[in-house]
Amino acid sequence: MFRRRRRAALMVVALGLAGCAHGPGRGQDGSLRWRYRVEVPATLDRLRVEVCFPDKAPRRLKIDEDDAAAVAAVTEVSADKGTARLDREAATIVLGPLPPGACVRYSVATEALLEGSGSRLSARAGEVMSVDPRLVLWRPATLYFEADVALELALADGVTASVPWPATGENKFHLPVTALMWASQAVFGGLTTQTVEAAGATFSVAIVDQPRKLSAAGVEKWIATAAETVATLYGKFPVERMQVVVLPFPGGGGPVYFGMALRGGAVGATAGVERGCRPRVPREWVAIHEFLHHGMPFVQQADAWLSEGFVTYYTEILPTRRGFRSESAGWQALLDGFGRGRKGGTGQPLAQESREMHETHSYQRVYWSGAALALLADVGLRDGGGERSLDAAMRHLLRCCAHTPRVWTAEAALRELDAWAGSPVFTELATTWLPRAEFPELDAVYRRLGLDVINGEVKIRQSAPAAAVRRAIFARPSGRSAGP
Ligand SMILES: [Zn+2]
Repeated sequence: MFRRRRRAALMVVALGLAGCAHGPGRGQDGSLRWRYRVEVPATLDRLRVEVCFPDKAPRRLKIDEDDAAAVAAVTEVSADKGTARLDREAATIVLGPLPPGACVRYSVATEALLEGSGSRLSARAGEVMSVDPRLVLWRPATLYFEADVALELALADGVTASVPWPATGENKFHLPVTALMWASQAVFGGLTTQTVEAAGATFSVAIVDQPRKLSAAGVEKWIATAAETVATLYGKFPVERMQVVVLPFPGGGGPVYFGMALRGGAVGATAGVERGCRPRVPREWVAIHEFLHHGMPFVQQADAWLSEGFVTYYTEILPTRRGFRSESAGWQALLDGFGRGRKGGTGQPLAQESREMHETHSYQRVYWSGAALALLADVGLRDGGGERSLDAAMRHLLRCCAHTPRVWTAEAALRELDAWAGSPVFTELATTWLPRAEFPELDAVYRRLGLDVINGEVKIRQSAPAAAVRRAIFARPSGRSAGP
């Protein structure tokens, strides 16, 4: 049995955000409805923002990211009915009492913003600018989940935009409140846009206008193949719409050499593509990997072992299931990854490696330790018989938790999975391996599955006790039930 998470649909829920708990009248300073209008000139040198409050105006506007450059970039703050001034020290736009219908205006100098910002999502490449909307869209100090927020773009001739938000009209958007809380990207300038429909989802693809080999047909094939591959796990693609930004780039370590999954205000992904190359479809893995993140809840960065580990596991499993390589080549890829994970890291316990991953760059250790735990969980569940598998657990996680507007700890996500499984299998794996500096022990599982490793090469032994489990892991799901 498992718990269904009830959604407090009509309750006003103040989201727990840094900066919201201070100041007078938490709950009184909020506003439930506001409208942005953002003017983007052809020069991209500044964004002119107007934010109007049809009902009640708040007393203070903040930006969610505590980014000094974002505050320094703001000029020309004014209100049409009342007063508005920027308190740079407090990173606050202080509003005199404003009547209903009042609008606040300000400009954001993009060069100052992009040069000083620590955000990896803010950059300028030639005639294109990418910015994290959290650095530009000042909002009431208290945010409510139910807030009704809209945005209209006024684009100069020749400027194209790519944003993650659901459209309500031409250049008009509804902004889920997460758009103001979590990282995302708005890209403006010389872009070629293209829509790809695949696996029941619509992908709004924007390609930065830079020299490239990637054709429109190539984009379609690449995105569609990755989407269909991810859909083999879930039955369909885990979200209905997605923004994809493709950045052709000189240099890099391969045709597609980085990706980022974003969640602010809907979902998005970015991929850097080597200018002179095309993605190697169907095996190209970056898009598959980033897309898979959107089937899981937003897990806090310190617990990357869970989000990256489970995603890494399926990044290897799914292409093999689709027949893009043989079962033994699939196992070889997994075992090679585990080998890299075993060699990587700084010798600290996995929990610490995971927390410090971005400082120590222990990516291989963290990603592949998490993937090893995914394999152990998968084999353990399948050993129990019935419909249980990590696949079914992932489908449960998508249904219950992937699209909740909160950041999850691994602990909470594992508790949810334990409740689904009816026993604490997930939490036990984590409590066994997170405090340990050794890579998760896999030899016993290899033996049971019939994976003999000789000089680093995998040989499959069909007579192994759990050979059926081994085959099932790479079997293409056919007519599977929707799961418990
Ligand atoms: Zn990832």
